[in-house]
Amino acid sequence: MSVDIHAPYKERVDTALHDKHLRIALDRATSRMKTQRADAMAAIDGERLRTQVRKMKSYVLRNLPDLLETLESNLTANGAHVHWAADGEEADRIILDIARQANVQKAVKAKSMTSEEIHLNGVLQQAGIKVVETDLGEYIIQLADEPPSHIIAPVIHKRIEDISQVFQRELDMPPTMDPSAMTGAARQILRREFLSADLGISGCNFAIAETGTICIVTNEGNGRMVSSMPRVYIAVMGIEKLVPTVEDAFLQYQALCRSATGQQCSVYLSMTSGPRRADHPDGPEEFHVVLMDNGRLNMLARGYGEALMCVRCGACLNACPVYREIGGHAYGSTYSGPIGAVISPLLNTDVTDADKLPHASSLCGACRDACPVKIDLPRLLLNERADQVAEGDTAWFDRQAIRAFADTMKSPGRYAAAASFARTGSNLLAGMSGGNITFMPPPFSAWTQSRDFPPFAKKSFRRQWRERQERRKRIGNEGQRSKIED
Ligand code: SF4
Repeated sequence: MSVDIHAPYKERVDTALHDKHLRIALDRATSRMKTQRADAMAAIDGERLRTQVRKMKSYVLRNLPDLLETLESNLTANGAHVHWAADGEEADRIILDIARQANVQKAVKAKSMTSEEIHLNGVLQQAGIKVVETDLGEYIIQLADEPPSHIIAPVIHKRIEDISQVFQRELDMPPTMDPSAMTGAARQILRREFLSADLGISGCNFAIAETGTICIVTNEGNGRMVSSMPRVYIAVMGIEKLVPTVEDAFLQYQALCRSATGQQCSVYLSMTSGPRRADHPDGPEEFHVVLMDNGRLNMLARGYGEALMCVRCGACLNACPVYREIGGHAYGSTYSGPIGAVISPLLNTDVTDADKLPHASSLCGACRDACPVKIDLPRLLLNERADQVAEGDTAWFDRQAIRAFADTMKSPGRYAAAASFARTGSNLLAGMSGGNITFMPPPFSAWTQSRDFPPFAKKSFRRQWRERQERRKRIGNEGQRSKIED
């Protein structure tokens, strides 16, 4: 059973919650990544690192126009072509034009969430250009014809058993559960693709403004091959993905690696500052950088700039009790988990029911505690909910329910009556279910369809308090009496 990312939000969540294999795969992977992150941060002064990265990213936001201009002029001085795209469509058009002019037949890609955001693969393939994902996880989901379900682990929703089936079906591979055998098979195929591709495409983990350098962080080395082997190389990045200096780049690099995979540093860090020069042994003949807005400036203007400090490490996804239950596809967006719930409704995307995503959170704060930039994700989610209320963008039933709740809380008599009704009713239903409530009539059934509901305490707090006071009074009176009798 797989989640259809274009289905309505409730259907996506429902499908995910009923997928036992998905829960096993998510539990295995997110638990491991959570522990690795915690260990890596505990090995250093993690709190200090988080404070430093936040300070640096705040500086970037405050000086974004100047830093972007510096980046552009340094890239241009290095021989790169810089393109500005107001939205995803324009970015796609720019990339397609470059590919057509260079007569590209085949493109190899390193993992790039920005290119997923603008559905670049589909655009290139429609124009007759073969696109091959070269990150192993991305390659597997390309074979499976699915979108990624995690910012750094795109195939997190699949167990090894599922991946084995994909390899048997798509690559005609004999059945195996050996990850090395499957990786070896993919490696053989991808090697040939690298050697025959005309175009390399990557995202950008961070761009260094003072040197005009695009940096890609990988553990497989595919970023390096994508950026150096084909004759044309294009890096596509959101306008927020930059750092001022080389020192800042290594600060972010450290926070990213420790938070994403629990590594001190990744296996590869590929840095490209320009096209191949006459004395270089390899490198692209043409180097293009596409700087894309696609709703980011609007986020800044609306007071959601803090979300642009994200370094896309995925730690908030691994920490989130909601993501850990439903996985990435249930969000219906390229960006899932707490950060996806914040930015998906704000970016120019075509996510079905994007307005529901800010409600896909228990607001427990685990995401904020895990974030290497200390982004206050719960506050941003609450702000988005408040915006929806202010814009009248809430369901009729929700408005009536909140109004009734407010009226009840304002009147002690109504509060006592409602509590008594809830106590009696919930304990009756719990008795029928033999523990927690597993069924409630509509509209409350929306809750019990996906989780149990505990019954209210048999005695209210007020009643317990009254009984306690009476007991104390009785004991006091008895003490007085025995003193008099003595
Ligand atoms: S919001 Fe923070 S924890 Fe989540 S992906 Fe971005 S940087 Fe990582």
